Amino acid sequence: AGEFAGRRITVAGLGVSGASAARALVRRGAEVTVVDGGDGERQRAAAAELEREGIAVRLGDGATLPEGTELVVTSPGWKPDSPLFTAAARAGVEVVGDVEIAWRLRPEDAAPWLAVTGTNGKTTTVRMLASILTAAGLRTTAVGNIGTPIVDVVLGEERYDVLAVELSSYQLHWAPSVRPHSAAVLNVAPDHLDWHGSMEAYAADKGRIYEGNRVACVYNAADPVTEELVRRADVVEGCRAIGFTLGAPAPSQLGVVEGVLVDRAFVENRYSHAQELAEVADVDPPAPHNIANALAAAALARAFGVEPRAVRDGLRAFRPDPHRIEHVADVDGVRYVDDSKATNTHAAEASLGAYDPVVWIAGGLAKGATFDELVAKAAKRLRGAVLIGADRALIREALARHAPDVPVVDLDRTDTGAMAAAVHEAARLARPGDTVLMAPACASMDMFTNYHARGEAFAAAVRDLASGRSAAQ
Ligand code: ADP
Repeated sequence: AGEFAGRRITVAGLGVSGASAARALVRRGAEVTVVDGGDGERQRAAAAELEREGIAVRLGDGATLPEGTELVVTSPGWKPDSPLFTAAARAGVEVVGDVEIAWRLRPEDAAPWLAVTGTNGKTTTVRMLASILTAAGLRTTAVGNIGTPIVDVVLGEERYDVLAVELSSYQLHWAPSVRPHSAAVLNVAPDHLDWHGSMEAYAADKGRIYEGNRVACVYNAADPVTEELVRRADVVEGCRAIGFTLGAPAPSQLGVVEGVLVDRAFVENRYSHAQELAEVADVDPPAPHNIANALAAAALARAFGVEPRAVRDGLRAFRPDPHRIEHVADVDGVRYVDDSKATNTHAAEASLGAYDPVVWIAGGLAKGATFDELVAKAAKRLRGAVLIGADRALIREALARHAPDVPVVDLDRTDTGAMAAAVHEAARLARPGDTVLMAPACASMDMFTNYHARGEAFAAAVRDLASGRSAAQ
């Protein structure tokens, strides 16, 4: 950890993770400058706070590399082709993220990492994993792309036996020396291609999570890309490839047999072929994509030596986070579901597949995605669609191609009030027994601060609708 003392380090981005990395590095004796292209009220307030702690801050210029910089620490939002990184590359200066800093600063006896990435299901899976590890009596927390910045957890007072670490493809891109105990890639579908440049580059960044694994590389048997990433990874000798499947498991896999989650990878009893872990009904909600998440979490826990009973108890104790296929209310016999977290087409496909007939509220920032496959798969189940947000034309065109008979309301709005209007339009299209599903297949930042605010706007509109109805009665 002495490697940072006296070094001149530039931290790109004045966000939560940037500030936490800057503080940790200054405590290790580094000379830190935080740079940020913004110069608004929020940045000035954050800057003033850091400056009081002896950290230099430069606002209004996120592009020029400060004189003498020896290492750049980036924040997730910054694109790899940002001018600052181009300048760093030209100067032969290494660029890393806060996850890399956490890894390099961690104490010698630090807790091992069980790591999870994937286009969708990361947060759910690490929370399930943390719940299972806790049920096994282990001291753990879910960290990484969620909650407390990872640097703070790794350097904090609290002692852990093992960490359940969610890693985004951005974080993996900038974390070259992280070596998890075991890791899982849940799925690889097109997303964030504008950031990574290509599907190849995106998949390769996800595959980094397997590098140096010691016990198990967990892959999705239904997603050949994940298996290929395991094959390409350089792992410690003896590390096993462990698959998960929604069908009956092959040897070295976890899967499902007659409503029971079954482990054929880590079997203690040499007289039996498989170990029963939990019932499908123990998983909340017991939808196929979520069973897959549970199997991946179980595989990582089992790789760490957790007993079958703790897998079951941990899954039973788990409750999903808000805005992930969350049932908001029933109004006039119509069910309203908030899947604001479906920020890409692959996620929206999972929730759209669960309802029939469904009125679909969609739209936002497409991030370079195309919608043909999603719309073609959902077409038969759609009662109607209501479109909002900046890139809604892409979805409208896909609907015209693959679901020409489905009524579409194009709201042509990107203001925050658009969500209430969308809920009203959806209510008009829906019939009793239908589901109105807000699964936008897009990012939210054109209209909202984040997916959470988008989900709250939806829920508020549904509550208004419900109270309007009851007042009218
Ligand atoms: P992430 O942290 O990767 O964004 P979340 O666990 O927050 O993933 O889930 C995000 C959304 O993705 C959910 O609302 C759901 O629509 C969808 N989803 C969750 N798990 C899966 C999965 N295994 N495959 C496909 N879609 C999924």
